[in-house]
Amino acid sequence: MATRTQSKKYIYAFGNGKADGNESMKNLLGGKGANLAEMAGHPKLRLPVPPGFTITTEVCNYFSQHKRHYPVGFSGQLTLAVKKLEQLSGKKFADFSHPLLLSIRSGARRSMPGMMETILNVGLNDEIVKGMIEQSGDMHFAYEAYRRLIIMYADVVLEKAAGIDTLLNGYGKGVRKFLEDKLEKYREKHGYKDHRQYKLREHKEIIKLFKNIIHKTLGQEFPDDPWQQLWGGIEAVFASWNGKRAVEYRKIEHIPDDWGTAVNVQVMVYGNMGEDSCTGVGFTRNPATGENKFYGEYLVNAQGEDVVAGIRTPAPINRSSANEQSNKLETLQKKMPKLYKELDGYQRRLEKHYRDMQDIEFTIEKGVLYMLQCRTGKRNGQAAIRMAVDMYREKLIDAKTALMRVSADQLQSVLLPSLTPAGERAAKVIAKGLPAGPGGASGRLVFTSSDAVQQVAAGEKVVLVREETSPEDVQGMHVASAILTTKGGMTSHAALVARGWGKCCIVGCADITINLKEKKLISREGLTLNEGDFISLNGTKGIVYEGALPLSQSGFEKNKYFHAFMELTNRFAKLNVRANAETKEDAQRALSFGAKGIGLFRTEHIFYGKGSEAPLLAMQKMILSPTPTERQRALNELFPFMKKDIRQILEIMEGNPVTFRLLDPPLHEFLPHEEDKIKTLAENTGIPLSSIQQQIQSLHETNPMLGHRGVRLAISYPEITMMQVKAIFEACAELIKKKKKILPEIMVPVTIDSHELQHQKKIIMEVHQQVCDNYKLKSIPFHFGTMIETPRAALLANELAIQSDFFSFGTNDLTQMTMGLSRDDIGSFLPEYIRQDMLPADPFAHIDTKGVGQLIESAVTKGKKVNRKLEIGVCGEHAGDPESIRFFKRSGVDYLSCSPFRVPVARLVAAQVEQ
Ligand code: ADP
Ligand code: MG
Ligand code: MG
Repeated sequence: MATRTQSKKYIYAFGNGKADGNESMKNLLGGKGANLAEMAGHPKLRLPVPPGFTITTEVCNYFSQHKRHYPVGFSGQLTLAVKKLEQLSGKKFADFSHPLLLSIRSGARRSMPGMMETILNVGLNDEIVKGMIEQSGDMHFAYEAYRRLIIMYADVVLEKAAGIDTLLNGYGKGVRKFLEDKLEKYREKHGYKDHRQYKLREHKEIIKLFKNIIHKTLGQEFPDDPWQQLWGGIEAVFASWNGKRAVEYRKIEHIPDDWGTAVNVQVMVYGNMGEDSCTGVGFTRNPATGENKFYGEYLVNAQGEDVVAGIRTPAPINRSSANEQSNKLETLQKKMPKLYKELDGYQRRLEKHYRDMQDIEFTIEKGVLYMLQCRTGKRNGQAAIRMAVDMYREKLIDAKTALMRVSADQLQSVLLPSLTPAGERAAKVIAKGLPAGPGGASGRLVFTSSDAVQQVAAGEKVVLVREETSPEDVQGMHVASAILTTKGGMTSHAALVARGWGKCCIVGCADITINLKEKKLISREGLTLNEGDFISLNGTKGIVYEGALPLSQSGFEKNKYFHAFMELTNRFAKLNVRANAETKEDAQRALSFGAKGIGLFRTEHIFYGKGSEAPLLAMQKMILSPTPTERQRALNELFPFMKKDIRQILEIMEGNPVTFRLLDPPLHEFLPHEEDKIKTLAENTGIPLSSIQQQIQSLHETNPMLGHRGVRLAISYPEITMMQVKAIFEACAELIKKKKKILPEIMVPVTIDSHELQHQKKIIMEVHQQVCDNYKLKSIPFHFGTMIETPRAALLANELAIQSDFFSFGTNDLTQMTMGLSRDDIGSFLPEYIRQDMLPADPFAHIDTKGVGQLIESAVTKGKKVNRKLEIGVCGEHAGDPESIRFFKRSGVDYLSCSPFRVPVARLVAAQVEQ
């Protein structure tokens, strides 16, 4: 006879102060299961968790890989595990006299809000419900539980898991809504206020009605056998791992498909057993502001999901959790002071134990408190920053941990634009709701996720408006500029998802109704808006406005937590962060964001300034000059403007390096192309119209990107360089005389050969000498360097490095020229390219590490080999992109230069990459 081998452990029990698993076993038990085990079994916690067990993710993976079969030995373990629950609870599953009911809950390694489904009250049927009535003495309670089971089971197991979405599509909402509506109609028909007025006969009638509907619409029967319910529920959870919605969510969040989900089976506790029962959710700190105050919502006489579903307005657990809609409702602290105190004790213990803000679920059954879940709570950027700083100061976490607690997205989100106060004052308020995701946004109204996706693909900005969101909406929510729901609270699906993504969001906006069929939004005052109309949201205050209001920057850089947090990044960051800036405003903003200098000052920007037209006109005269003498005269005219701008920037950035890039764009960009503007130019310069037209003709290039630009202009017209560097050196000389510390750098653009650098350096040194002599200075210290933005420059880095104090990678041009793709024309095929996996991502958003990256790495190595002191920078969009920054760090880059608004993010990532 074959010996039986012990089968693997597929089920981990918890409860009664003990647990087989613990928090470190998330991969096997999922987040929910691991934390339930930790709460129940850790000696420092031992919280009152209803007993239960977790079926491992290995079973899920086996199930997926073996045509929905279970591993050998699993079924026996399940039977034993249920037996154990019976012993612990003193009740019996599938038994009439002391019925034990169970919840079946999914839980993957990482929390995926609402993605997978929960079934409550498993174990009821027409017979057992009688036992429930006897046990609880409450017929209405027992039947409500039974109805909920049928609704959830029909929705999760019979409809969704079976992939039957179509039958009820005519109705538009699926079986759950169908049954709920039927129940509502039944109540209205009988003239009852609530279900507690039903007679027994009527309760039974509804159950029968439900079962009939399920049979008719889904072609299946609701199983009366509790064991069949249990198996069906488990299977549905596993199957939903591969459901469309879960797969889509994982794609957006980059969660691997082979993680699988665990299933948690747990003894039911009832928050709906009367006025001394309730259910609620909480956060150990305020997830919207970060304030260190216990925050939460609860509903008396309610079960499980009612809080999150947003059917009734939840009450605040304490005063500091109240909002405009709930501040008249009684708090848990007032209603059940002793239990509140107990709960408060647990939440403190949990936060201390996990050393992070926890999101908890609890239920009170007839005056007894149970903890149903805890996990690290989602938070918006503002809250993440404040919590990191506070917890560090409270010595709950160390500096490194604090640094890692804020993501680049979260940091960026606090710097996000908001509606302007003036714009808001002048605008018409449509409605008010709960501020679930801060910041401001505006866009065209859309009412479905797919419309949102379509409109955004067509280049529109949209605001997605829904009654409440569900996992089906995640794609639309992802692309929308903002999300607005008419139902749901601060812990609803929309609020959680928006918070995770740092998106502007307003929920529970009861002032408006949606007509989904006609795609209309109707305000309480009767204002009707159609799809495509503009609305604007103030997500910080929860106000909805008509029209597209102007947006302004956040001003969060003045917040004291922001400062304290950025201070923390300085301790770790080794990469320096500078900004790309030309104007006084940008330079000052860069400084306020903590930039350590300017890595790219585009000298040509002086011609596009708002101030006077004189510089541009002088430039145009210079370009149109027929003789060198006239050209010099025009340059002399240009000189004072150039010098003034440069001096101003150097003064603002005192003590920090400023990199001036010599003239870069092709000359024709400075000349007008419209008829009337050309005429005006002729009048203003006194140059005949025909000769201007001729000049424009001759400057025309077929491919200006690769034409007469950058250093090639400076080779043709050395006097342009001379004028520019004279302006730089004179500005420097004057500031040196005023005892200012200045660090100018002169940078040559679009270089392809070291001869170009030699040529330019010679001119620069001559001008340097003249200015030193004129100002009677021994020297004006400066750095000389080049952009690396052509593949040839990268390849010849060793030659260029001999002439250079620094390199600055112009990654936009380098990407264009290396890939042979024009950034301005890539839009027509890039989405398809990414969809078909031809390229991993937009190479202009994230540096192409495989190709362009190779050039960067080898250029750094070659350059540093011949010039040990060579400083390496990156200017261009990639310098503000977290993924790219990680690559630059690995490649040996010394500093980044990005747009002022990306400076904080670059500083954060620069610190995080050192960990
Ligand atoms: P989610 O991942 O959507 O939070 P949960 O598995 O936590 O799903 O369950 C949904 C709701 O059901 C929650 O409000 C939870 O508190 C409640 N619930 C789950 N298990 C039980 C139980 N054993 N007794 C009472 N309520 C439960
Ligand atoms: Mg759920
Ligand atoms: Mg939960």
